[in-house]
Amino acid sequence: MSSNHETPVITRFAPSPTGSLHLGNARTALFSHLWARKTGGKFILRIEDTDSERSHLRFRDQLMADMRWLGLDWDEGPDVGGPAGPYSQAERGEFYRTLFAQLATRELAYPCYCTAEELELSRKLQRIAGRPPRYAGTCRGLTGAQRAEREGRGLKATLRFAVPADLTVEFIDAVHGPQRFASNDIGDFIIRREDGTPAFFFCNAVDDSAMGVTQVLRGDDHLTNTPRQIMLLDALGMRAPAYGHVGLLVGQDGAPLSKRHGSASADEFRERGFLSIAVLNHLFRLGHAGDTDGWLTAADMAVHFRPEHLGRAPAHFEESQLMHWQKESLARMSSGDIHAWLAADDPQEFIELVRHNVVLPQDAIPWRAVVRGELQPLDAEERRIVAAAGADFFAAAALAYEESDADLKVLTKLLKERTGRKGAELFMPLRVALTGQLHGPELAPLLKLIPPQIVTHRLLSHAQNP
Ligand code: GLU
Ligand code: ZN
Repeated sequence: MSSNHETPVITRFAPSPTGSLHLGNARTALFSHLWARKTGGKFILRIEDTDSERSHLRFRDQLMADMRWLGLDWDEGPDVGGPAGPYSQAERGEFYRTLFAQLATRELAYPCYCTAEELELSRKLQRIAGRPPRYAGTCRGLTGAQRAEREGRGLKATLRFAVPADLTVEFIDAVHGPQRFASNDIGDFIIRREDGTPAFFFCNAVDDSAMGVTQVLRGDDHLTNTPRQIMLLDALGMRAPAYGHVGLLVGQDGAPLSKRHGSASADEFRERGFLSIAVLNHLFRLGHAGDTDGWLTAADMAVHFRPEHLGRAPAHFEESQLMHWQKESLARMSSGDIHAWLAADDPQEFIELVRHNVVLPQDAIPWRAVVRGELQPLDAEERRIVAAAGADFFAAAALAYEESDADLKVLTKLLKERTGRKGAELFMPLRVALTGQLHGPELAPLLKLIPPQIVTHRLLSHAQNP
Protein backbone atom coordinates (compact mmCIF):
# COMPACT_ATOMS: atom_id res chain seq x y z
CA MET A 1 0.00 0.00 0.00
CA SER A 2 2.78 2.38 -0.86
CA SER A 3 1.00 5.67 -1.34
CA ASN A 4 3.92 7.77 -2.45
CA HIS A 5 7.28 7.53 -4.13
CA GLU A 6 9.48 7.28 -1.07
CA THR A 7 12.13 4.58 -0.98
CA PRO A 8 10.78 1.50 0.80
CA VAL A 9 12.41 1.21 4.20
CA ILE A 10 13.06 -1.94 6.19
CA THR A 11 12.37 -1.42 9.87
CA ARG A 12 12.25 -3.75 12.80
CA PHE A 13 11.15 -4.21 16.36
CA ALA A 14 13.64 -6.03 18.53
CA PRO A 15 12.14 -6.74 21.95
CA SER A 16 13.73 -8.79 24.68
CA PRO A 17 11.15 -11.33 25.84
CA THR A 18 11.49 -10.59 29.53
CA GLY A 19 8.00 -9.33 30.27
CA SER A 20 4.84 -8.13 28.62
CA LEU A 21 4.86 -5.44 25.93
CA HIS A 22 5.52 -2.07 27.56
CA LEU A 23 3.60 0.82 26.04
CA GLY A 24 6.85 2.68 25.34
CA ASN A 25 8.08 -0.23 23.24
CA ALA A 26 4.69 -0.59 21.60
CA ARG A 27 4.98 3.02 20.50
CA THR A 28 8.45 2.51 18.96
CA ALA A 29 7.13 -0.61 17.25
CA LEU A 30 4.16 1.37 15.95
CA PHE A 31 6.37 4.08 14.43
CA SER A 32 8.63 1.47 12.81
CA HIS A 33 5.61 -0.40 11.51
CA LEU A 34 4.03 2.75 10.08
CA TRP A 35 7.25 3.80 8.41
CA ALA A 36 7.51 0.46 6.64
CA ARG A 37 3.84 0.44 5.67
CA LYS A 38 3.95 4.03 4.49
CA THR A 39 6.78 3.34 2.08
CA GLY A 40 5.71 -0.16 1.06
CA GLY A 41 8.77 -1.57 2.79
CA LYS A 42 9.09 -4.34 5.35
CA PHE A 43 8.69 -4.64 9.09
CA ILE A 44 10.70 -7.33 10.86
CA LEU A 45 10.19 -8.82 14.31
CA ARG A 46 13.40 -10.03 15.93
CA ILE A 47 13.44 -11.56 19.38
CA GLU A 48 16.50 -10.56 21.43
CA ASP A 49 16.60 -13.51 23.78
CA THR A 50 20.31 -14.00 24.46
CA ASP A 51 19.75 -13.58 28.18
CA SER A 52 18.51 -17.09 28.83
CA GLU A 53 17.88 -16.43 32.52
CA ARG A 54 15.38 -13.66 31.89
CA SER A 55 13.98 -14.65 28.49
CA HIS A 56 10.96 -16.91 28.40
CA LEU A 57 8.99 -18.44 25.59
CA ARG A 58 5.74 -17.43 27.25
CA PHE A 59 6.88 -13.78 27.17
CA ARG A 60 7.73 -14.12 23.49
CA ASP A 61 4.26 -15.52 22.81
CA GLN A 62 2.71 -12.80 24.93
CA LEU A 63 4.65 -10.10 23.02
CA MET A 64 3.53 -11.50 19.71
CA ALA A 65 -0.08 -11.69 20.91
CA ASP A 66 0.10 -8.08 22.13
CA MET A 67 1.51 -6.95 18.79
CA ARG A 68 -1.16 -8.81 16.86
CA TRP A 69 -3.81 -7.24 19.06
CA LEU A 70 -2.39 -3.82 18.14
CA GLY A 71 -2.40 -4.81 14.48
CA LEU A 72 1.39 -4.49 14.23
CA ASP A 73 1.85 -7.40 11.84
CA TRP A 74 5.34 -8.33 10.70
CA ASP A 75 6.63 -9.51 7.35
CA GLU A 76 9.50 -11.52 8.77
CA GLY A 77 9.76 -12.98 12.22
CA PRO A 78 10.16 -16.08 14.37
CA ASP A 79 6.82 -17.59 13.42
CA VAL A 80 6.55 -16.51 9.77
CA GLY A 81 10.22 -16.97 8.88
CA GLY A 82 11.95 -15.03 6.13
CA PRO A 83 15.19 -14.90 4.16
CA ALA A 84 17.37 -13.67 7.05
CA GLY A 85 16.20 -16.12 9.72
CA PRO A 86 16.26 -17.45 12.28
CA TYR A 87 14.65 -14.43 13.95
CA SER A 88 15.36 -15.37 17.53
CA GLN A 89 18.88 -14.49 18.61
CA ALA A 90 19.15 -17.60 20.77
CA GLU A 91 19.13 -19.57 17.50
CA ARG A 92 21.76 -17.45 15.73
CA GLY A 93 24.82 -18.65 17.65
CA GLU A 94 26.60 -20.01 14.60
CA PHE A 95 26.39 -16.69 12.77
CA TYR A 96 27.80 -14.85 15.79
CA ARG A 97 30.63 -17.36 16.24
CA THR A 98 31.77 -16.82 12.66
CA LEU A 99 31.92 -13.08 13.20
CA PHE A 100 33.70 -13.40 16.58
CA ALA A 101 36.33 -15.56 14.92
CA GLN A 102 36.80 -13.02 12.13
CA LEU A 103 37.31 -10.18 14.59
CA ALA A 104 39.67 -12.19 16.79
CA THR A 105 41.80 -13.40 13.89
CA ARG A 106 42.20 -9.85 12.65
CA GLU A 107 43.04 -8.68 16.18
CA LEU A 108 40.01 -6.40 16.14
CA ALA A 109 38.79 -8.13 19.27
CA TYR A 110 40.68 -9.73 22.13
CA PRO A 111 40.02 -11.86 25.20
CA CYS A 112 39.76 -10.03 28.50
CA TYR A 113 40.52 -11.95 31.69
CA CYS A 114 39.81 -9.18 34.17
CA THR A 115 37.61 -10.22 37.07
CA ALA A 116 34.59 -8.22 38.19
CA GLU A 117 36.57 -7.03 41.25
CA GLU A 118 39.48 -5.84 39.11
CA LEU A 119 37.15 -3.95 36.81
CA GLU A 120 35.35 -2.36 39.75
CA LEU A 121 38.65 -1.24 41.28
CA SER A 122 39.78 0.25 37.97
CA ARG A 123 36.53 2.20 37.64
CA LYS A 124 36.88 3.49 41.18
CA LEU A 125 40.41 4.74 40.52
CA GLN A 126 39.33 6.53 37.36
CA ARG A 127 36.48 8.20 39.17
CA ILE A 128 38.84 9.37 41.89
CA ALA A 129 41.09 10.81 39.18
CA GLY A 130 38.08 12.69 37.83
CA ARG A 131 37.85 10.71 34.60
CA PRO A 132 34.73 8.99 33.27
CA PRO A 133 35.13 5.31 34.07
CA ARG A 134 35.76 3.03 31.11
CA TYR A 135 37.69 -0.13 30.42
CA ALA A 136 41.38 0.70 30.81
CA GLY A 137 42.56 -1.66 28.06
CA THR A 138 44.37 -3.90 30.53
CA CYS A 139 44.18 -7.06 28.42
CA ARG A 140 44.56 -5.45 25.02
CA GLY A 141 48.30 -5.81 24.82
CA LEU A 142 48.60 -9.33 26.22
CA THR A 143 50.97 -11.54 24.26
CA GLY A 144 50.04 -15.01 23.11
CA ALA A 145 52.10 -16.44 25.95
CA GLN A 146 50.35 -14.27 28.53
CA ARG A 147 46.98 -15.34 27.23
CA ALA A 148 47.99 -19.00 27.29
CA GLU A 149 49.19 -18.58 30.87
CA ARG A 150 45.80 -17.19 31.94
CA GLU A 151 43.91 -19.88 30.06
CA GLY A 152 46.15 -22.38 31.84
CA ARG A 153 45.04 -21.00 35.17
CA GLY A 154 41.47 -21.68 34.09
CA LEU A 155 40.53 -18.00 33.83
CA LYS A 156 37.40 -17.33 31.84
CA ALA A 157 37.52 -14.60 29.22
CA THR A 158 35.09 -12.17 27.70
CA LEU A 159 35.75 -10.91 24.19
CA ARG A 160 36.24 -7.17 23.84
CA PHE A 161 36.08 -5.08 20.72
CA ALA A 162 39.30 -3.11 20.20
CA VAL A 163 37.95 0.40 19.67
CA PRO A 164 40.09 2.18 17.04
CA ALA A 165 41.99 5.20 18.38
CA ASP A 166 41.51 8.80 17.22
CA LEU A 167 38.38 8.17 15.24
CA THR A 168 35.40 10.49 15.00
CA VAL A 169 32.16 8.63 14.53
CA GLU A 170 29.54 10.74 12.84
CA PHE A 171 25.99 9.92 11.92
CA ILE A 172 22.74 11.72 11.35
CA ASP A 173 20.12 10.62 13.81
CA ALA A 174 16.64 10.67 12.30
CA VAL A 175 15.36 12.43 15.42
CA HIS A 176 18.36 14.14 17.05
CA GLY A 177 20.10 15.28 13.91
CA PRO A 178 23.89 15.24 13.38
CA GLN A 179 25.87 13.35 16.04
CA ARG A 180 29.63 13.24 16.67
CA PHE A 181 31.48 10.95 19.04
CA ALA A 182 35.23 10.60 19.64
CA SER A 183 36.36 6.99 19.74
CA ASN A 184 38.95 7.94 22.36
CA ASP A 185 36.07 8.51 24.80
CA ILE A 186 34.81 4.97 24.31
CA GLY A 187 36.44 2.07 26.13
CA ASP A 188 36.89 -1.35 24.56
CA PHE A 189 33.54 -2.99 25.15
CA ILE A 190 32.42 -6.56 25.63
CA ILE A 191 30.93 -8.26 22.59
CA ARG A 192 30.90 -11.81 23.95
CA ARG A 193 30.18 -12.63 27.55
CA GLU A 194 32.15 -15.06 29.65
CA ASP A 195 29.57 -17.79 29.02
CA GLY A 196 30.01 -17.42 25.27
CA THR A 197 26.73 -15.59 24.63
CA PRO A 198 26.84 -12.44 22.50
CA ALA A 199 26.44 -9.07 24.20
CA PHE A 200 23.69 -6.66 23.21
CA PHE A 201 25.93 -4.17 21.34
CA PHE A 202 27.13 -6.92 19.12
CA CYS A 203 24.20 -9.13 18.16
CA ASN A 204 21.83 -6.19 17.95
CA ALA A 205 24.08 -4.40 15.44
CA VAL A 206 25.11 -7.36 13.29
CA ASP A 207 21.54 -8.64 13.10
CA ASP A 208 20.19 -5.29 11.95
CA SER A 209 22.78 -5.30 9.22
CA ALA A 210 22.39 -8.96 8.26
CA MET A 211 18.61 -8.64 8.15
CA GLY A 212 18.86 -5.69 5.80
CA VAL A 213 17.30 -3.22 8.22
CA THR A 214 17.65 0.26 6.78
CA GLN A 215 16.04 2.33 9.58
CA VAL A 216 16.35 1.59 13.26
CA LEU A 217 13.97 3.44 15.54
CA ARG A 218 14.48 2.94 19.24
CA GLY A 219 14.45 4.69 22.59
CA ASP A 220 16.72 7.56 23.50
CA ASP A 221 18.50 5.42 26.05
CA HIS A 222 20.31 3.74 23.16
CA LEU A 223 21.73 6.88 21.57
CA THR A 224 25.20 6.53 23.08
CA ASN A 225 25.34 2.86 22.07
CA THR A 226 25.12 3.79 18.43
CA PRO A 227 28.74 4.95 17.83
CA ARG A 228 29.93 1.63 19.28
CA GLN A 229 27.66 -0.29 16.98
CA ILE A 230 28.71 1.73 13.94
CA MET A 231 32.41 1.11 14.66
CA LEU A 232 31.72 -2.58 15.11
CA LEU A 233 29.87 -2.90 11.81
CA ASP A 234 32.62 -0.92 10.11
CA ALA A 235 35.25 -3.31 11.41
CA LEU A 236 33.24 -6.22 10.03
CA GLY A 237 32.72 -4.53 6.69
CA MET A 238 28.96 -4.61 7.28
CA ARG A 239 26.60 -1.81 6.33
CA ALA A 240 25.10 0.10 9.25
CA PRO A 241 21.43 1.05 9.25
CA ALA A 242 20.34 4.64 9.82
CA TYR A 243 19.35 5.22 13.42
CA GLY A 244 16.67 7.35 15.03
CA HIS A 245 16.23 7.70 18.79
CA VAL A 246 12.83 8.76 20.06
CA GLY A 247 12.12 10.44 23.40
CA LEU A 248 11.05 8.39 26.36
CA LEU A 249 7.44 7.67 27.22
CA VAL A 250 6.70 9.13 30.64
CA GLY A 251 3.72 9.39 32.96
CA GLN A 252 2.08 12.66 33.93
CA ASP A 253 4.68 13.15 36.67
CA GLY A 254 7.52 12.97 34.14
CA ALA A 255 8.86 9.63 35.40
CA PRO A 256 9.23 6.75 32.93
CA LEU A 257 5.83 5.14 32.45
CA SER A 258 5.47 2.20 34.81
CA LYS A 259 2.91 0.20 36.78
CA ARG A 260 3.05 2.96 39.33
CA HIS A 261 1.02 5.09 36.90
CA GLY A 262 -1.77 2.50 36.80
CA SER A 263 -1.22 0.46 33.69
CA ALA A 264 1.91 0.52 31.56
CA SER A 265 1.74 -2.54 29.32
CA ALA A 266 -0.41 -3.31 26.32
CA ASP A 267 -2.03 -6.37 27.88
CA GLU A 268 -3.18 -4.41 30.90
CA PHE A 269 -5.06 -1.99 28.68
CA ARG A 270 -6.52 -4.82 26.65
CA GLU A 271 -7.72 -6.57 29.81
CA ARG A 272 -9.41 -3.40 31.00
CA GLY A 273 -11.33 -3.31 27.75
CA PHE A 274 -9.51 -0.60 25.84
CA LEU A 275 -9.75 -0.97 22.09
CA SER A 276 -6.50 -1.38 20.25
CA ILE A 277 -7.37 1.37 17.79
CA ALA A 278 -7.87 3.76 20.74
CA VAL A 279 -4.47 2.82 22.14
CA LEU A 280 -2.92 3.33 18.68
CA ASN A 281 -4.53 6.75 18.31
CA HIS A 282 -3.01 7.88 21.59
CA LEU A 283 0.42 6.31 20.95
CA PHE A 284 0.56 7.79 17.46
CA ARG A 285 0.48 11.29 18.94
CA LEU A 286 3.04 10.66 21.66
CA GLY A 287 6.29 12.06 20.36
CA HIS A 288 4.98 12.40 16.83
CA ALA A 289 3.81 15.90 16.02
CA GLY A 290 0.58 15.43 14.13
CA ASP A 291 -0.76 17.20 11.09
CA THR A 292 -4.21 15.99 12.04
CA ASP A 293 -6.21 16.06 15.26
CA GLY A 294 -8.94 13.65 14.33
CA TRP A 295 -9.36 9.95 14.93
CA LEU A 296 -7.41 7.83 12.47
CA THR A 297 -7.58 4.28 11.22
CA ALA A 298 -4.32 2.33 11.23
CA ALA A 299 -4.09 2.81 7.47
CA ASP A 300 -4.58 6.57 7.86
CA MET A 301 -1.79 6.65 10.43
CA ALA A 302 0.61 5.19 7.90
CA VAL A 303 -0.33 7.98 5.50
CA HIS A 304 0.12 10.68 8.14
CA PHE A 305 3.32 9.29 9.65
CA ARG A 306 6.42 11.43 9.01
CA PRO A 307 9.76 10.40 10.50
CA GLU A 308 10.75 14.08 10.58
CA HIS A 309 7.84 14.68 12.94
CA LEU A 310 9.28 12.40 15.61
CA GLY A 311 10.29 14.27 18.74
CA ARG A 312 13.13 14.00 21.20
CA ALA A 313 11.29 15.46 24.18
CA PRO A 314 9.81 12.94 26.59
CA ALA A 315 6.21 12.20 25.60
CA HIS A 316 3.51 12.22 28.25
CA PHE A 317 1.11 9.34 28.39
CA GLU A 318 -2.27 10.43 29.72
CA GLU A 319 -5.09 8.09 30.47
CA SER A 320 -7.62 10.90 30.00
CA GLN A 321 -6.39 11.23 26.42
CA LEU A 322 -6.69 7.50 25.94
CA MET A 323 -10.29 7.72 27.23
CA HIS A 324 -10.98 10.35 24.61
CA TRP A 325 -9.76 8.06 21.82
CA GLN A 326 -11.67 5.19 23.35
CA LYS A 327 -14.92 7.16 23.06
CA GLU A 328 -14.06 8.19 19.51
CA SER A 329 -13.40 4.58 18.62
CA LEU A 330 -16.58 3.27 20.23
CA ALA A 331 -18.66 5.86 18.42
CA ARG A 332 -17.45 4.33 15.14
CA MET A 333 -18.23 0.73 16.04
CA SER A 334 -21.22 -1.26 14.87
CA SER A 335 -23.49 -2.55 17.61
CA GLY A 336 -22.46 -6.06 16.59
CA ASP A 337 -18.83 -5.22 17.36
CA ILE A 338 -19.82 -3.56 20.60
CA HIS A 339 -21.78 -6.68 21.51
CA ALA A 340 -18.63 -8.76 21.02
CA TRP A 341 -16.52 -6.24 22.92
CA LEU A 342 -18.90 -6.23 25.89
CA ALA A 343 -18.68 -10.02 25.92
CA ALA A 344 -22.02 -10.43 27.67
CA ASP A 345 -25.34 -11.71 26.45
CA ASP A 346 -26.93 -8.31 25.93
CA PRO A 347 -29.94 -7.77 23.69
CA GLN A 348 -29.46 -5.53 20.68
CA GLU A 349 -31.82 -2.79 22.02
CA PHE A 350 -29.87 -2.67 25.24
CA ILE A 351 -26.58 -2.11 23.39
CA GLU A 352 -28.00 0.60 21.19
CA LEU A 353 -29.33 2.32 24.29
CA VAL A 354 -26.28 2.24 26.57
CA ARG A 355 -23.44 2.41 24.06
CA HIS A 356 -22.96 6.14 24.57
CA ASN A 357 -22.82 5.72 28.33
CA VAL A 358 -20.10 3.08 28.21
CA VAL A 359 -16.37 3.71 27.82
CA LEU A 360 -15.10 0.47 29.32
CA PRO A 361 -17.03 -2.82 29.49
CA GLN A 362 -17.46 -2.48 33.26
CA ASP A 363 -19.49 0.69 32.67
CA ALA A 364 -22.28 -1.51 31.26
CA ILE A 365 -22.69 -3.40 34.53
CA PRO A 366 -24.88 -0.83 36.33
CA TRP A 367 -27.09 -0.45 33.23
CA ARG A 368 -27.48 -4.19 33.00
CA ALA A 369 -28.63 -4.07 36.62
CA VAL A 370 -31.13 -1.33 35.75
CA VAL A 371 -32.88 -3.57 33.24
CA ARG A 372 -32.43 -6.95 34.87
CA GLY A 373 -31.54 -6.58 38.49
CA GLU A 374 -31.12 -4.55 41.60
CA LEU A 375 -30.37 -0.86 41.70
CA GLN A 376 -27.41 0.58 43.58
CA PRO A 377 -28.42 2.30 46.85
CA LEU A 378 -29.20 5.98 46.23
CA ASP A 379 -26.69 8.63 47.21
CA ALA A 380 -27.58 11.77 49.18
CA GLU A 381 -28.50 13.90 46.17
CA GLU A 382 -30.66 11.16 44.69
CA ARG A 383 -32.44 10.61 48.01
CA ARG A 384 -33.09 14.33 48.24
CA ILE A 385 -34.77 14.36 44.83
CA VAL A 386 -36.94 11.38 45.73
CA ALA A 387 -37.94 12.93 49.06
CA ALA A 388 -38.78 16.24 47.42
CA ALA A 389 -41.08 14.51 44.94
CA GLY A 390 -42.99 12.88 47.78
CA ALA A 391 -44.79 9.57 48.27
CA ASP A 392 -47.96 10.65 46.47
CA PHE A 393 -46.01 11.47 43.34
CA PHE A 394 -44.72 7.90 43.08
CA ALA A 395 -48.13 6.38 43.82
CA ALA A 396 -49.49 8.46 40.94
CA ALA A 397 -46.55 7.47 38.78
CA ALA A 398 -47.14 3.75 39.38
CA LEU A 399 -50.76 4.16 38.37
CA ALA A 400 -49.95 6.24 35.30
CA TYR A 401 -47.34 3.63 34.27
CA GLU A 402 -49.96 0.87 34.35
CA GLU A 403 -52.21 2.93 32.08
CA SER A 404 -49.37 3.98 29.77
CA ASP A 405 -48.34 0.68 28.19
CA ALA A 406 -44.73 1.58 29.08
CA ASP A 407 -44.91 4.66 26.89
CA LEU A 408 -43.03 7.44 28.68
CA LYS A 409 -44.87 10.20 26.78
CA VAL A 410 -48.24 8.91 27.94
CA LEU A 411 -46.93 8.29 31.45
CA THR A 412 -45.56 11.82 31.87
CA LYS A 413 -48.65 13.42 30.34
CA LEU A 414 -50.94 11.63 32.82
CA LEU A 415 -48.57 12.36 35.69
CA LYS A 416 -48.38 16.03 34.80
CA GLU A 417 -52.17 16.31 34.71
CA ARG A 418 -52.54 14.53 38.05
CA THR A 419 -49.67 16.04 40.06
CA GLY A 420 -49.15 19.44 38.41
CA ARG A 421 -45.40 18.74 38.16
CA LYS A 422 -43.46 19.38 35.02
CA GLY A 423 -39.92 19.58 33.62
CA ALA A 424 -37.05 18.46 35.85
CA GLU A 425 -39.40 18.21 38.83
CA LEU A 426 -41.23 15.48 37.03
CA PHE A 427 -38.42 13.82 35.13
CA MET A 428 -35.65 13.65 37.71
CA PRO A 429 -37.57 11.75 40.41
CA LEU A 430 -38.76 9.30 37.74
CA ARG A 431 -35.24 8.77 36.44
CA VAL A 432 -33.80 8.31 39.90
CA ALA A 433 -36.53 5.89 40.98
CA LEU A 434 -36.23 3.83 37.82
CA THR A 435 -32.45 3.82 37.30
CA GLY A 436 -30.94 4.81 40.64
CA GLN A 437 -28.91 7.48 38.83
CA LEU A 438 -29.18 11.14 37.89
CA HIS A 439 -27.84 10.66 34.37
CA GLY A 440 -27.86 7.98 31.77
CA PRO A 441 -29.35 6.76 28.52
CA GLU A 442 -32.63 8.12 27.20
CA LEU A 443 -35.39 7.21 29.61
CA ALA A 444 -38.18 6.39 27.11
CA PRO A 445 -36.51 3.40 25.42
CA LEU A 446 -34.98 2.36 28.74
CA LEU A 447 -38.44 2.18 30.27
CA LYS A 448 -39.49 -0.33 27.63
CA LEU A 449 -36.55 -2.60 28.49
CA ILE A 450 -37.35 -2.88 32.18
CA PRO A 451 -39.84 -5.65 33.01
CA PRO A 452 -43.20 -4.09 34.09
CA GLN A 453 -43.29 -5.70 37.53
CA ILE A 454 -39.84 -4.24 38.26
CA VAL A 455 -40.93 -0.76 37.14
CA THR A 456 -44.01 -0.94 39.34
CA HIS A 457 -41.97 -2.24 42.24
CA ARG A 458 -39.40 0.55 41.94
CA LEU A 459 -42.05 3.26 41.78
CA LEU A 460 -44.09 1.83 44.64
CA SER A 461 -41.01 1.45 46.84
CA HIS A 462 -41.05 5.26 47.09
CA ALA A 463 -44.82 5.53 47.40
CA GLN A 464 -44.92 5.09 51.15
CA ASN A 465 -43.99 7.83 53.51
CA PRO A 466 -40.81 6.77 55.26
N1 GLU B 1 16.39 -5.54 22.78
C1 GLU B 1 16.67 -4.13 22.85
C2 GLU B 1 15.71 -3.46 23.83
O1 GLU B 1 14.62 -3.97 24.03
C3 GLU B 1 16.54 -3.53 21.48
C4 GLU B 1 17.02 -2.15 21.37
C5 GLU B 1 16.94 -1.69 19.93
O2 GLU B 1 15.81 -1.47 19.47
O3 GLU B 1 17.96 -1.59 19.28
O4 GLU B 1 16.06 -2.47 24.43
ZN1 ZN C 1 40.84 -7.32 30.83
